[in-house]
Amino acid sequence: MLFGRNKKNPIKIADKGIVKWNYSTCGYCSTGCAIEIGVNEDGIPVGARGVAGADVNRGKLCLKGIFEHEIFESEGRGKTPLLRDNIHDEFKEVEWDEALSTMASEIKRIQQTYGRDAFAIVSTGQILTEGFYTLGKLARGVIGTNNYDGNTTLCMASAVSGYKRSFGSDGPPGCYEDFENTDCLIAWGSNLPEQHPIIYWRFKEAQEKRKFPLIVVDPRVTMLAQNADIHLPITPGTDVVLMNALMHVILAEGLQDQDYIDANTNGFEALKAEVENYDPMTAAKICGIDEDTIRNVARLYAKADSGMNIWTMGINQSTHGSDGVVGINNLSLITGNIGKPGGTSLSITGQCNAMGTREWSSCSGLPGYRLLENEQDRQEIADFWGVDPAFFPKKRGMAQTDIFPAIEAGKIKGLWLVGTNPMTSMPNTARIRKTLEKLECCVVQDSYVDVETTPYAHIHLPAAIWAEKEGVFTNTERRVNITRKVKEPYHNSKADLHIFNALAQQFEQGRKMNFPDQPSEVFEEMKTLSKGRLVDISGMSHDLIEENRGVQWPYTEQQLKKDDKPPQGGKRLYTETATFRFPDGRAKLIPLPFADNNERPDEQFPFWLNSGRLVEHFHTRTRTGKIGNNNKYSPTPFMEMNPDAAADLNIQHQSYVRAVSRRGDAVVMVMLTQRVPRNMVFIPFHFFDCVNRLTLGLLDPYSRQPAFKQAAVRIEPINQEEAARLNKANRQF
Ligand code: SF4
Repeated sequence: MLFGRNKKNPIKIADKGIVKWNYSTCGYCSTGCAIEIGVNEDGIPVGARGVAGADVNRGKLCLKGIFEHEIFESEGRGKTPLLRDNIHDEFKEVEWDEALSTMASEIKRIQQTYGRDAFAIVSTGQILTEGFYTLGKLARGVIGTNNYDGNTTLCMASAVSGYKRSFGSDGPPGCYEDFENTDCLIAWGSNLPEQHPIIYWRFKEAQEKRKFPLIVVDPRVTMLAQNADIHLPITPGTDVVLMNALMHVILAEGLQDQDYIDANTNGFEALKAEVENYDPMTAAKICGIDEDTIRNVARLYAKADSGMNIWTMGINQSTHGSDGVVGINNLSLITGNIGKPGGTSLSITGQCNAMGTREWSSCSGLPGYRLLENEQDRQEIADFWGVDPAFFPKKRGMAQTDIFPAIEAGKIKGLWLVGTNPMTSMPNTARIRKTLEKLECCVVQDSYVDVETTPYAHIHLPAAIWAEKEGVFTNTERRVNITRKVKEPYHNSKADLHIFNALAQQFEQGRKMNFPDQPSEVFEEMKTLSKGRLVDISGMSHDLIEENRGVQWPYTEQQLKKDDKPPQGGKRLYTETATFRFPDGRAKLIPLPFADNNERPDEQFPFWLNSGRLVEHFHTRTRTGKIGNNNKYSPTPFMEMNPDAAADLNIQHQSYVRAVSRRGDAVVMVMLTQRVPRNMVFIPFHFFDCVNRLTLGLLDPYSRQPAFKQAAVRIEPINQEEAARLNKANRQF
């Protein structure tokens, strides 16, 4: 009987009065989702939707992208430049000319008094590539400090370093399409459903069609681990041991691709000798994975026609992050899994344009993956910019994580922070706070004035946010996507490109050089400099990128002339024999002896402290903390704890506790869950005055990336009223 069928009310979607949809690219993570922002007849952004014809996301967006139109007018935006002589004074509002001339005078004073490198710059992975390129030109060609880095040192430096050590260059060799071709996937310290939901959906769809095994290596039962065929709950910090043990089995059982190894690599014999020390029985005692599982995984991976390794912060944020990446590359190389469909070694990048800064910002070298250490590279850029090559340093200066200790030691006196918030993002907050207080001049350039680092600034420069400006991002799979301008910058804020250009005019050298105003003109400079490089984008233009919803590099002038439609770009790198970026074209197999150098739990601090991300938040919550629909899922800092461990300490679900490390303490609400083992707690990294009050941040020797995920803490029950008061005070900052 169909009684009542016609009485149902259809679902009504509120009419937001959208009159136009503007094409752009999501400005949060590195997935690179194509997004359209709907504006009403007053030009106000009121809606967001995924772009169906875009290969990356095929119409979908995650929780962050869906509400991204709300960030333009969100709370805490900077309206106009601010200035003060002393960080204990009130800020006064000033015009841009005064802010930038004061900043330039301070840079000149500090450099004349203490030396060129006494003024440091730390940038981001969030701004557009044209901005990165221009900041690099200003930092390297005008200001001339060698202490210039990006906050990508906190997330992707180990991937960069590992790619360079194995392949001779940075540049992820694979792409998302590899999910559709692989026969086995190992995910190392990567929780795709929460960190990169749309990449997870691409993987999941491919896996459901082709049923290939998913192996997840993670000390925690993450959402991805819950979906794994095999979960390896590894002891924190011992990835290299597991990698060596897998290779031990592969070589002992003759499962390697010897033809590929002979034609494409150097160093096989030394690697073989090292991994002989890591038989599964010995390795199991260190890494906590039983020997049969190690053998099974090694066979499953090596016998697959094509095998894929992906990783994120679980590998990178470690004292041996760079070695972990090299270990993954070793595994891929000995099984011939590079440059073929479904066979790759793919770092899943964090920030929306961490790739853009790696390619074009000159942070660790010069544009287009050029090196300061290479004379020809220095000469080429000097000629192109009109700078004396002797002005460039002959090797890279300090990384971000070395800049802060240098401030502490009095070697650096001025700091310009561009789109980064070290008071929340750096390990050991108490130390960072004292460090920032020592600066003679601190400039914070950010779209928000209420970031936790602003109280330590002498100058605040309000930057236009995301789609208030125009330019490109590069995503995880080397796809260059365009962000079109949706609206004018908020109040008196300015695009980063405008700020860099205007600051350049404050210097005699800057006035002699060419600093184009238009993003498309800057892109033309980058195209010219890219010709013949691995990162060749000479066939691209802003319009071509939009038409095709992104184009992967390399995409050369020659490819454009062939008029392939749609432009294919470089789906994969190193597809031909011996085309790696070392002089003989061969990749390096590098032996990795294991060094146990982390802080570990002991009697006084008996728990491993693990940290990571939540799907609803991005980085230091500068944006998502202001968006109601994101923030409401986790407005309060919390800690995952195993119920058995909690019972031992008489700790209840949803009670407040004090987590204590050798550095400091943090008040968090307890969430009881079996996701963490009995000897581990997990705290999300997004909250101010929280997990980074506890972290130690020992550095990887190659990448200088901090170990955010391996520290030791104890947990103490506390007075609940006092804890609730402290917690509320933290949230109101
Ligand atoms: Fe944006 Fe990343 Fe979400 Fe895509 S997956 S909508 S790029 S935050």
